[in-house]
Amino acid sequence: MTVYAFGHKNPDSDTVCAAISLAYLKNKLGVETTAVTQGAISPETSFILDRYGLAIPEVKNSFAGESVFLVDTSDISQLPDDLSDAEVLGIVDHHKLGDVTTSNPLECWIWPVGCSCTILKAMYDFYNIEVPKEIAGIMLCAILSDTVIFKSATCTDKDKEFAVELARIAEEKDLQALGMEMFKVKSAIQGTPIRELVERDYKDFDMNGNKVGIGQLEVVDLSLLDEIKDALASDIIALKKVGDRHSVFLMLTDIMKEGTELLIASDDPSIVEKAFGCAPAGNKVWLDGVMSRKKQVVPNLEKAFA
Ligand code: MG
Ligand code: MG
Ligand code: MG
Repeated sequence: MTVYAFGHKNPDSDTVCAAISLAYLKNKLGVETTAVTQGAISPETSFILDRYGLAIPEVKNSFAGESVFLVDTSDISQLPDDLSDAEVLGIVDHHKLGDVTTSNPLECWIWPVGCSCTILKAMYDFYNIEVPKEIAGIMLCAILSDTVIFKSATCTDKDKEFAVELARIAEEKDLQALGMEMFKVKSAIQGTPIRELVERDYKDFDMNGNKVGIGQLEVVDLSLLDEIKDALASDIIALKKVGDRHSVFLMLTDIMKEGTELLIASDDPSIVEKAFGCAPAGNKVWLDGVMSRKKQVVPNLEKAFA
């Protein structure tokens, strides 16, 4: 029986690429492992898999009675509903420790770095398994995506060092150009339904008993979103209502200007000033230098809600 490797809901490139890279490593180590996702992959991820000729993992949402490896999250809210009926064999993650528990000891690789694929590279080195060219390519792209081409506050020296090693294996010469090509794919939003954009990189959090949703769109130029900004703002109000949420925030991140316009739908908008020290103008506020949900938005909001 195969073991499954997968990451969080609304899979991003790191979640998908880390699951594929972990499955390859585990198979090499004699553990039959299959990478799956908990939903459709994004255009950015499909660009990455296409570039290196790898297949899109199947979608699987139920794991009762199965053995699993988790990547890129250890939060129950971002995992399948029946995870408690599965056996978690291991976790590879770079987020704050979540609330998954196990009945048996597990293989845990949780590092404070910019990307799960950076930890995967360390695992290949630890087990002395060579990273094949196409796996090196997707791991590299996941690092470029999660660290916003090394610009995010989450980026560490390890991410940069391993990205350079992976680039050598993948025969990628220009990481800046590759990263920009990827973010241009990510910025192409024409024809995409508004709700799909809101949920593309969206996570729900429990903040002191309040359900708080935070989505993020990363674009090469915020003006690309001008035409749909009002629709996005209305949609997060609708999303807040249906899910009985206290707040929904949508980060519109400009990766060139290195900042985020935060769209706000909240029962208590003053929470934003409390969290970030700047007062919103209407339903939005510009947060200069803010690019990382994990490091610059979630902790501030958690403190404000405490
Ligand atoms: Mg992720
Ligand atoms: Mg990640
Ligand atoms: Mg991300």
